[in-house]
Amino acid sequence: MLEIRGLTTHYGSSQALFGVDMDLDAGQVVTLLGRNGMGKTTTINSIMGIVKASGGSIRFMGEELVGRASFRTANLGIGLVPEGRQIFPNLSLRENLVATASNHLGQADPWTIDKVFDFFPELATRTNSMGNLLSGGEQQMLAIGRALMTNPRLLILDEATEGLAPLVRAKIWDALERIAGEGMSILVVDKNLADLMRIASRHFIIQRGQVVWSGSTADLQADETARQTYLGF
Ligand code: ATP
Repeated sequence: MLEIRGLTTHYGSSQALFGVDMDLDAGQVVTLLGRNGMGKTTTINSIMGIVKASGGSIRFMGEELVGRASFRTANLGIGLVPEGRQIFPNLSLRENLVATASNHLGQADPWTIDKVFDFFPELATRTNSMGNLLSGGEQQMLAIGRALMTNPRLLILDEATEGLAPLVRAKIWDALERIAGEGMSILVVDKNLADLMRIASRHFIIQRGQVVWSGSTADLQADETARQTYLGF
């Protein structure tokens, strides 16, 4: 579904990605791991065209994404849950869900507000609250719901549980596990390795802008050296 080869990205004269290679098959949950500043967000933003790749290839469902405008990438079926949630502060919860909703691919049984509320019941009682008045956990659930309302084939989450209380984090992981169980392909960046190992089947570790390790959950569990060296735990 997603095939990244030799991806390079620069911020001005400073190079952040030095040839990232990674793959994700349809229906898989894949993680991109690494310490702070190693290039996880840059990889995700390069996929989405939020930052411009300077070289290499990103193919999604056979289409080249490098050089494509972000909205055209989104229309191909990639839903982003961005770092920092980026909820529209002056729209209500319901308006946040419908503002970017679409079904460009004509998916059968598309996501609806009620289906989002089924996954995140906490949101159902807050429909008229403005985005900036929601708690961090509610905003995060809303950011996931907003991405699902675009009926993506691939959901990308950048630090979806950062700064949230353990109980809220658990709710988000449970919902993601259910969403994955429905066959959604998911690429996730997060620091909660134990939760990631529960829901993901394949992992890529990035170090200074390059993928230095990849393998299955069992491989990652067994490879304490890789975990210590690249992740610090
Ligand atoms: P974190 O977990 O801290 O978000 P990350 O793995 O997502 O880290 P990136 O944010 O992709 O890392 O950063 C990769 C490198 O690119 C870092 O050296 C960072 O300083 C640099 N970088 C990121 N954004 C910019 C920017 N807007 N301008 C210049 N350099 C940047």
